[in-house]
Amino acid sequence: MVIAAAGILTFLGWAIGKPPLILSLRGSAIMSPVAALGFALAGLALCCRTCGTVGRPAGRGLCASGLASLIVFLGAFKVADYLFGLRFHIDELFFARKLMPYSGTLPTALAPNSALALLLIGAGLLLFELQTSRGGIPSQMFFLVSGLIGIVALLGYTYGVAALYQWGQMPQMSMAGAAAAFVFSMGALAGRPERGLTTVLISRTTGGAVARRLLPMALIVPWVLGVLLLSGEQGGYFQWEFTVAIFAASSLVVFTILIWWNAELLHRADLEELRTTRRMAAQHQATGVLAESATLPQALPKVLEIIGEALECEVGAAWKLDAQLNAFRCIEIWRHPNGDAESFIQATRSTLLPRGTGLPGKTWAGARPIWLPDAGNEKDLPRAQAAAESGLHSAFSFPLWQGSALFGTMEFFSRRRIQAPEQGLLEMLANLGSQLGLFIKRTQAEEQLRHASANLQRSNTELQQFAYVASHDLFEPLRMISSYLQLLSQKYEPQLPGEAREFISLAVDGAKRMDALIRDLLAYSRVDAHGREFAPVDLEEAFRAATANLKVAIQETGASITHQPLPRVLADEVQMSQLFQNLIGNAIKFHGAESPRIEVGMQRREHDWLFHIKDNGIGIEPRYVERIFVIFQRLHTRQEYAGTGMGLAICKKIVERHGGRIWVESAPGRGSTFFFSLPVLDEQGVAS
Ligand code: ADP
Repeated sequence: MVIAAAGILTFLGWAIGKPPLILSLRGSAIMSPVAALGFALAGLALCCRTCGTVGRPAGRGLCASGLASLIVFLGAFKVADYLFGLRFHIDELFFARKLMPYSGTLPTALAPNSALALLLIGAGLLLFELQTSRGGIPSQMFFLVSGLIGIVALLGYTYGVAALYQWGQMPQMSMAGAAAAFVFSMGALAGRPERGLTTVLISRTTGGAVARRLLPMALIVPWVLGVLLLSGEQGGYFQWEFTVAIFAASSLVVFTILIWWNAELLHRADLEELRTTRRMAAQHQATGVLAESATLPQALPKVLEIIGEALECEVGAAWKLDAQLNAFRCIEIWRHPNGDAESFIQATRSTLLPRGTGLPGKTWAGARPIWLPDAGNEKDLPRAQAAAESGLHSAFSFPLWQGSALFGTMEFFSRRRIQAPEQGLLEMLANLGSQLGLFIKRTQAEEQLRHASANLQRSNTELQQFAYVASHDLFEPLRMISSYLQLLSQKYEPQLPGEAREFISLAVDGAKRMDALIRDLLAYSRVDAHGREFAPVDLEEAFRAATANLKVAIQETGASITHQPLPRVLADEVQMSQLFQNLIGNAIKFHGAESPRIEVGMQRREHDWLFHIKDNGIGIEPRYVERIFVIFQRLHTRQEYAGTGMGLAICKKIVERHGGRIWVESAPGRGSTFFFSLPVLDEQGVAS
């Protein structure tokens, strides 16, 4: 905008006959009207290209391209004019007569360097949006060269070297024109700094910081030094040799300081990066330890060591909140292998810290991380003296959360005095704190689960032993009751009244029932306790044995049983035939009006076999499909169907012992289909 305004002003100056509203300094030429027009157009075109980046209307782009083409046209004609001697008289388009009085001593026609700068600026503006496939921005190159032409001419004016602003005998570039070319080019480069060459300059990287510091210095320092020394020499204050020596010495000092300053910056950035990498590696390692460890006592020493070493600490400690004492107690401590902080470690081990006391107590009270630049100087800390004696200074502590409840804290002490914590470090610790919290929660849940499952296992075994012993020991008295009842009825039957005979027969019946119940209970408890080792079993054999045992029932009911060829599996053979016998037996027993039709089949799935036994019996109400697998659960009276209610419970136990599942699909009057799965095991008993 400034360039456009300056151009317009100069042009107006020419128009009203007072040319140079732009001053001519130290014998500089006056900016020609064509150059003024060119810069005015360039300023406007750049505004169209860059102002209001969001939703730039297409019309503006078109207008910018039009203006840029005009500038290219002006520059190109004049350059061609100089190169090939073609006389287009572009300069004389405006104010040709006014031009004459000034062209005597100070030629004001468009200079070749101004024309070239305009041509480049025009081309740059025309190709402003163009980006090559490799990401290059050609317009930036054009602006760089036009800026260079401007700055070289300006240098020429400052040092009084005419060759830099006047090429040969041709008209010279005005100082205002040179400044306009330079300022405009820099402005155009900054117009869209996020692309191409300027990306580095505005980036937040170390490279960007170095470029922002060094570039202005590289421009200003030699220029100003040169001007000062040249004036000194021209004023006769010192000789030429002295000037050169001073220039060299000052450049040496200034650039050494500048380079040192930047080296320091790079050094600090590298150190920071190194620290960040180490921290990230430590965090990664700590995460690995937490994933691999099963318990907190296993994980804590390793985590303390990882953090302590990554942060170059001397001592690290983990504190746990003791609910009974309502105070923190140190549960784990780490020390640097070469460290010597014995008195502090002793103090840490033997101190209990209530809420608000000591570093852990303060962390507890504030529920957030705490950083102390010098723990030895904190008079209200119980371990301050011990820390000072052990040469420990910086300390920090962060809470370990177990959900929303505080579990404990971790603290670290270093020999260095670090004034303030870095953001990255705090983030890492907060992250670790929550990871540890999750780990503690997980291990506690696992511990509870282990405990519960051990309890369950124990009570299960005890129950089985009880069932086995009880049922086993009940046989003897039961046998006695049955035999004496039989003896009673045999010996005294003729003397006994009818009612007594009936009572005795009821008692015998009860004893028989009890015998059946005890047998089934014993069979149930034996499934686990006395099961055989798994061996390859031909299920065809097991099926045959089962149907042989059911021969009478099959004949009595006229049952038909069909079956698909059954596979060989790794199992307990006796239990397999018991399983088939119970399921087929039930299918026969619970038949409906028609004689039983039973189908036995199977299918191989990815990891197991799925067997089914389908009947056309009375069916089961869906709400009972779970209950029938529980011991002694029956859906009918003994008068309707004989049985103890143990058959399916035994089936379930057998299938589960083999790693499978059993269930039923049925509806009243529609028959039932019992399914059970058996995993496919290899010869070693490993599931495939
Ligand atoms: P029990 O056969 O001694 O009664 P089970 O444990 O074998 O005991 O069966 C439990 C109950 O499940 C049976 O009382 C019966 O009501 C039901 N049931 C089992 N198998 C079938 C079947 N194939 N069809 C219909 N009901 C069945």
